[in-house]
Amino acid sequence: MHSKSKINSYLNQQQKLFGNELYLQLSTVYTNKLNEHTQTETANKLEKFYKSIYLCQNCKLGKTRKNFVFGSGDSNADLFLVGEAPGKTEDLIGQPFVGEAGQLLNKILSAIGKNRDNGVFITNVLKCRPPNNRTPLSSEISECQPYLIKQIKLIQPKLIVALGRIAGKTLLKKELTLNEMRKSKYNFFGIPLRITYHPSALLRNPDLKRIAWDDFKWVKNYLEK
Ligand code: SF4
Repeated sequence: MHSKSKINSYLNQQQKLFGNELYLQLSTVYTNKLNEHTQTETANKLEKFYKSIYLCQNCKLGKTRKNFVFGSGDSNADLFLVGEAPGKTEDLIGQPFVGEAGQLLNKILSAIGKNRDNGVFITNVLKCRPPNNRTPLSSEISECQPYLIKQIKLIQPKLIVALGRIAGKTLLKKELTLNEMRKSKYNFFGIPLRITYHPSALLRNPDLKRIAWDDFKWVKNYLEK
């Protein structure tokens, strides 16, 4: 902060001497540098956090997983997506949303002008796969949720979107149907939260795609505000 105020005072001085044109150029350079710095700092913090938890054995899934799936994407993301838990392919590869559902998610993101490396971070409520993709136990969610909260606090996205009923229920702490959950905007640790269908549900029931698309159009408009 100290160097920031020194730079601001320098920019003010330059503005007085040379007018707005130079001031704007310098201030843009400064803002870009600051963004790069913040981005690197967050990426470093995420990396450090990953290294501190990837061997986690806090629940039984630590014994059965093939790979710990931390999440992936842009450390400076404005959109933070949360699914339920890694599936078979995610467990094999160690990355979230890499199967057929992941490919559909990529298409949805592309349709709202986003991609997984730019402005988006994707993770799950659970970082390890439940055997045979069974529904996560509430004890597993309680053990794993602090990791999700820490990721959100480090990234500070503009919006969280929970994908599917389990992710929505975990973040909301309410028993509602997905259709009920998706009708409102909520708040999760100070960050706006919306809930929509998991891409796997859209693959199973293509009639839901139109409804999910309405939700993602809302997401696009919200992020562009
Ligand atoms: S699911 Fe979460 S709490 Fe359980 S072992 Fe994996 S990382 Fe740890």
